[in-house]
Amino acid sequence: MDNKKIERREFIKGTVTSSLAFLMGSAYVLTGCSNTGKQAAGNQDAEAAVSSCDDYSNVDEVNLRKREQLGYVKQTVNPENKCSNCKLWIAPKEGQSCGGCLLFKGPVYDEGYCTYWAPQDQ
Ligand code: SF4
Repeated sequence: MDNKKIERREFIKGTVTSSLAFLMGSAYVLTGCSNTGKQAAGNQDAEAAVSSCDDYSNVDEVNLRKREQLGYVKQTVNPENKCSNCKLWIAPKEGQSCGGCLLFKGPVYDEGYCTYWAPQDQ
């Protein structure tokens, strides 16, 4: 067998191996993404189960601290600036009594407020 045939075989073998590695990596990434989606859905279910906007039992320490650092209060002092008319507000879904905020996890009152309040786009 001459050297050209051996080189061609090595080239093809290398290409097939690289392609398989790429496909397996892609499949892993896609699987990871779908799992993250399931986890996010799980978090939403947990939030949906919250019966009071003061119930933080499903909220971790990091998000409780964020809420505190942003100065969140459940009742705004300025009715014109409140969570329900903030750009970062997540309106409650049907059947839920509490909304949410894009900055931290957990229930948020529609009449709440924090120092990051920003007007919604018109
Ligand atoms: S950023 Fe502040 S004011 Fe806006 S929705 Fe979140 S908690 Fe409410």
